[in-house]
Amino acid sequence: MAQQLEDKFHRKFYYLRLSVTDVCNFKCTYCLPDGYKPSGQKNSSFLTLPEIKRVVRAFADCGTSKVRITGGEPSLRKDFTDIIATVANTDGIRKVATTTNGYRMEKQVAEWQQAGLTHINVSVDSLDPRLFHQITGENKFNQVMAGIDRAFEVGYKQVKVNVVLMKHFNAHQLPQFLEWIKHRPIQLRFIELMQTGEMDDLFKEHHVSGVAIRNQLMAQGWLLKVREKNDGPAQVYFHPDYEGEIGLIMPYEKGFCESCNRLRVSALGKLHLCLFGDHGVELRDLLEHDSQEPQLIQRIQDQLQTKSVSHFLHDGNAGMTPHLASIGG
Ligand code: SAM
Ligand code: SF4
Repeated sequence: MAQQLEDKFHRKFYYLRLSVTDVCNFKCTYCLPDGYKPSGQKNSSFLTLPEIKRVVRAFADCGTSKVRITGGEPSLRKDFTDIIATVANTDGIRKVATTTNGYRMEKQVAEWQQAGLTHINVSVDSLDPRLFHQITGENKFNQVMAGIDRAFEVGYKQVKVNVVLMKHFNAHQLPQFLEWIKHRPIQLRFIELMQTGEMDDLFKEHHVSGVAIRNQLMAQGWLLKVREKNDGPAQVYFHPDYEGEIGLIMPYEKGFCESCNRLRVSALGKLHLCLFGDHGVELRDLLEHDSQEPQLIQRIQDQLQTKSVSHFLHDGNAGMTPHLASIGG
């Protein structure tokens, strides 16, 4: 194995978030409120299957054991199942996850599982179909729910559900969410709304800390689980009376970046050391041939030494990221 990916603050990187497309068919108010618009940039074609294979192999050769395939909406790629298989067949990769809006899950999740997808996150911001429609711009609540049921039918033991916490939409709906997971093995993850470059008043209007939810959970006897080395950023809570779990992702909390273990590659083949605040480093010129792997690894290792200690979101820094669909949330 090449040298384990490690930055100058002694953080080790086991987890790659790989975006495979910027395109999305939903219009979430906090992400793409006006829908997807092509960037108009030159060379804006997304990573091909051979490029994906090379980049994942380079990361795996430096100790990466988990890959999350994300976007935009990753399942919109016609070769999505082949992408899953390519990632899953890379030596060293033990967890292959995706984050999806669930639009294609009901029809395709069996195929994804056969290709090697081990973990699924699906976004559901409200259990009220009208509110779901209002937040995502799509009247697809029942379709997404049927996708979750189908995932259990085909054998997934747990499905993770992402909920972006929004003050006036869903922050008060904890009781409904808890009822929903009482007898379902769902890990419900409340994500604090993050400010991105194209967001203006929405953040001020809707950002709410996850602390209030954490306090309610603790008062009701929920307990914190221990983290594993390639786990994502959530603090996960469990309760003996519930089959489901609750995760809290609070990027504005002090110390959030101390446990960072993930790097990102965008759909256009740029390495992003942080979700916020960097331009991305070109990798594509080193994804043309298998023989370029040593140079590719060297570039990734060199860049990693420039990773900063924190995202500085607290200072109002939203960096270069216009919205999370652009480099994969
Ligand atoms: N389209 C897929 C989906 O929605 O699940 C994958 C891409 S999406 C960018 C990944 C995750 O980021 C979703 O759970 C979404 O809700 C979340 N997200 C997007 N914009 C966000 C923001 N500004 N703050 C917090 N979470 C956000
Ligand atoms: Fe699309 Fe996901 Fe962004 Fe919603 S959060 S607009 S589903 S990329």
